[in-house]
Amino acid sequence: MHLRILLLFTLFCCKSLLFSQTAVSNPSKSDFTRTLSILASDWLKGRGATQKGGYMASEYIASMMGLYQLKPYSPDRYFQNFKVLEHTVKKASFEIKKGNKTIALSENDFELTPISQSLQKNTQVVFAGYGLSVPEENYDDYKNQNVKGKIVVVLRGFPNHNDTTSAVYQKFKKLFPEENNLEEMKLKNAINKGAAALVIIDYNQNFRLKNSNQNDVFHSLKNESSVSIPVFRLSKSTAEKLLSDNKISLETFEKKAQNLQTASALLKNTIINFSIDLQTRTFSVRNVLGMLPGKDTTKTIIVGAHYDHLGIKNDSIYYGADDNASGTSGMLALAKNWSESKIQPKYNILFASWTAEEIGLLGSEYFAQNLKNQKILLCINMDMISRSAPEDKARRILSIGTQKETEYLKKIARESNAKLQNPFNLDLWETNGHSGSDYASFTAKGIPIMTFFSGFHEDYHTPRDIDSKVDLDKIQDVLFIVNNSLLKFIENQPN
Ligand SMILES: [Zn+2]
Repeated sequence: MHLRILLLFTLFCCKSLLFSQTAVSNPSKSDFTRTLSILASDWLKGRGATQKGGYMASEYIASMMGLYQLKPYSPDRYFQNFKVLEHTVKKASFEIKKGNKTIALSENDFELTPISQSLQKNTQVVFAGYGLSVPEENYDDYKNQNVKGKIVVVLRGFPNHNDTTSAVYQKFKKLFPEENNLEEMKLKNAINKGAAALVIIDYNQNFRLKNSNQNDVFHSLKNESSVSIPVFRLSKSTAEKLLSDNKISLETFEKKAQNLQTASALLKNTIINFSIDLQTRTFSVRNVLGMLPGKDTTKTIIVGAHYDHLGIKNDSIYYGADDNASGTSGMLALAKNWSESKIQPKYNILFASWTAEEIGLLGSEYFAQNLKNQKILLCINMDMISRSAPEDKARRILSIGTQKETEYLKKIARESNAKLQNPFNLDLWETNGHSGSDYASFTAKGIPIMTFFSGFHEDYHTPRDIDSKVDLDKIQDVLFIVNNSLLKFIENQPN
């Protein structure tokens, strides 16, 4: 009996010794449960990026990074400080001028997506069909049109979008499967052609225009690197007032477009005069960054999660236990285990806690814009890793997003999942064209990513996203996959 115990004990010791020398142990519940509860507590008040709770959360995360003996990323302790702007649209106006006649729209006649500065324009107008340039179909709404400095008016949709059985529809649907991507593409196209603003005509006659953006605040980085233009959305009847006297009827245009013929034109005798008046406040915010220096310090792998949430709104605390105290506590648990393993990783591992994700992925964007010459091999992102969608009764679905071009990361994810005692039902999706979380700041720079997400639930972005509802077993298994993927990725790198 005694001998057996001793033997078992010896075996156990050898095994753990062996383990600690070859790998980094997978986080267990005790490595993240307390951290998650503190992040999602009353004390941190929902961690609003521009609020006191966000500031206090950053102090707490930095102190944990200190405890785990990570190296501060910058001389400025663990913090990467920067400024974000909060804008409110105070007033917006939109007038159509035809000769001596002026039609002033009321604020309920249009919907506005503003940019991060006040703006006033009084300029010519070009009708540019669907606003698309599709060389593979030999279709270009901008052909022979100079729209530089002018306002571009386009229709929603694409050629023959009403006839779902037509060949033209099917070709375009394949190119633009999602309405959001299509509109983003139209905006990019207008910006590239030098337009001053984009006006989108909505097909639906009953479209109820609501100026959501005119009442809400929106945010931007103080020094934005990208150029944008405002987007106005008009109903079809309002747009007809704009196009009248110009021999352009939307019906004729749509008919021609069915045969991929364009009918773009400068609107004669027509001027649009718009103004957007913003009120702007500046806030200091910060990412929290701690490093485990690698043998090769020229290359870095990021393990990141945003720590901010919605903070206090209308006197309610939005705790954000799943979104994203779960990912943040997971990131810290991995930092703890990697640091305690005393294994010097092959490359730097940067443990990153992004701020201002909820107000436009601004923390990760700021970081990605200020990378300088650092080579980032991979960015792992964890955003909401503790809950399951209501239809996922067994709570075994896990989404892992990667770029289409990085098939090898899907393979790593599958292999890591297979090592789990009770493997997940993996939803391996492609992030190309998506921007739902901080991974998008990195894909925009061509950096490979893996993004982990455990499912949408009814408590998403409500004060009910609280820590008593998180699924600790699920987090533990997600972290198992993250850790094993990280180890496998490093192992697979050429020497
Ligand atoms: Zn989130």
